[in-house]
Amino acid sequence: MKRYLGIFLVVWLLLQGCGGPDRSNRLIVIDAGHGGHDSGAQSGGKKEKDVVLQIVKRLQRRLKREGYRVYMTRGSDRFLTLGQRTRIADRKDADLFISIHANAIANKSRFNVVEGVETYFLQKTRDAKSQRIAARENASVLKGQDALSKNVIIDSVLNGPKIIESNKLAIDVQHGMVKQLKRGYRDVKDGGVRPAPFYVLVGASRPSILVEVGYMTNPKERQRLFRADYQERIVDGIVEGVNRYFDNREKELEI
Ligand SMILES: [Zn+2]
Repeated sequence: MKRYLGIFLVVWLLLQGCGGPDRSNRLIVIDAGHGGHDSGAQSGGKKEKDVVLQIVKRLQRRLKREGYRVYMTRGSDRFLTLGQRTRIADRKDADLFISIHANAIANKSRFNVVEGVETYFLQKTRDAKSQRIAARENASVLKGQDALSKNVIIDSVLNGPKIIESNKLAIDVQHGMVKQLKRGYRDVKDGGVRPAPFYVLVGASRPSILVEVGYMTNPKERQRLFRADYQERIVDGIVEGVNRYFDNREKELEI
C-alpha cells in the first residue's frame, strides 16, 4: 500500500510541475486596427492595416500556446467600425481587450527622428501628443458625431475601475515589449505608457489597451515592423506583460 502511495505521489508531483497555471478560463480579444478600405497609416508603400494583422495573427498563436482563449476581431483584410470591435469584446465577455496599431506623424522633417513603441490606456488627457495621436486613430469613426455626444460616451466609462486595471496592464505590456525588443534591437525607443481618449477603448468594460508597435513614418522602424523576428519580439513582450498582469491580479486576490 505504501508503495502505491509513493507512486501516486510521484505522478501527482509530475502533473503539478507540467501543468503551469490554468488559463483556459481567460478570454483575450485581440484587435488588428483598421482593415479593408481603411488602410490606417501609409508610408513607403506599406500600410498599417497589413502589419498589425500580421502581428495579431502571431499574437493569437502565442497566447493560445500559453493556454488562453483568444478571439480576433478580424483575421483578414476587412473593415470593422470601432464600435463593432468593442462590442465583440462585450459580447464575448472578454477578460482583456488589446488593440494593435502602428504609429505615424505628419511632419515629414521629423520622419527620421520620431520612433518607438508606446502603449495607451483610456483616459481623458491634456497631453498634446496623446491627443494628436488619438485624433488620428479616431478620425474614421468620429466623423459626423458632435463633440457633446463624443464626450458623453467617453465620460460614461472614465470613472470606472477598469481605468486603473487598464493602466496596470499597459505598464506590464509596455515593459515586456521594450525588454524583449531590446534583446535584438538595442536602440529601440521606449515611448512609455500614455493616457489617451481612443474611441476604440471607449465602451469596453474590461481592461483595455492600445499598443502602437512602432512608427510607419520612420524608415528604419517601418522596415523592422515587417520583419518576422521583430514581430515575434513584440508578441513575446505582449505575452510576457499579459502573464505578469494576471499573475499580479491573482496575488492581489490572495492578500
Ligand atoms: Zn491605427
